[in-house]
Amino acid sequence: MTQLETCWIQVHQRIESACRLAGRDPDSVQLIAVSKTRTAREILALHALGQARFGENYVQEFVAKWEALTPRAVVPPLEWHFIGALQRNKTRAVAERADWVHSIDRLKIAQRLSDQRPADRPALQVCLQVDLSGEPGKAGIAEADLEPLAAATAELPGLRLRGLMALPPPSTDPTEQRRPFRRLRELLDRLNARGHRLDTLSMGMSGDLEAAILEGATLVRVGTALFGPRNAQVTQA
Ligand SMILES: *Cc1c(COP(=O)(O)O)cnc(C)c1O
Repeated sequence: MTQLETCWIQVHQRIESACRLAGRDPDSVQLIAVSKTRTAREILALHALGQARFGENYVQEFVAKWEALTPRAVVPPLEWHFIGALQRNKTRAVAERADWVHSIDRLKIAQRLSDQRPADRPALQVCLQVDLSGEPGKAGIAEADLEPLAAATAELPGLRLRGLMALPPPSTDPTEQRRPFRRLRELLDRLNARGHRLDTLSMGMSGDLEAAILEGATLVRVGTALFGPRNAQVTQA
């Protein structure tokens, strides 16, 4: 068995035991393999094991891998999740290629993605990234500004608002890990109480996916636990 296969099985076992602990159906949590800095070849190796959802953080690197892999028309098709910071001059490349964007934190970016989504593609599935730290300068929309952003994003024709994403600071204390995830779930519940129909909580990574699943994560974004530690950023596929 390859190292990659061992890791892939282990991550699935972690997801399944967390689901069991939480009394949740394991099918209610989907694994996104975060393939930043990893090559197209590594993506294909994981796909061969059955992994179809991949997460990318850097536009240039995402485009290179998308261009390399899309002509292959693998089955099941690759599903691309853009999870990194998005600048306004880079939105088109993502709007034309991604299936999901998790990192919307301002209306201008949402509007551009909607305008630039090709008419022959289904609506781009999106999450709003929330900054739960309360500190200015962090990625994500402040909690206080979330409702108006959700309302405006939900109106955009090229997008389908699915839920919320957060990237809390790493912690090794399981109780501490759960706090921000619980907060994100409360924010989602609150939006749904105001008439939204959101079904997605994108939260949990290699070090804290159990805590996230216990608090209701539906998408976990896992890099290191699958592929091993990352080296310096690679921008070529
Ligand atoms: C890198 C990254 C991940 C994966 O982190 P690991 O700790 O390697 O699992 C998840 N989400 C985002 C937004 C990331 O940038």
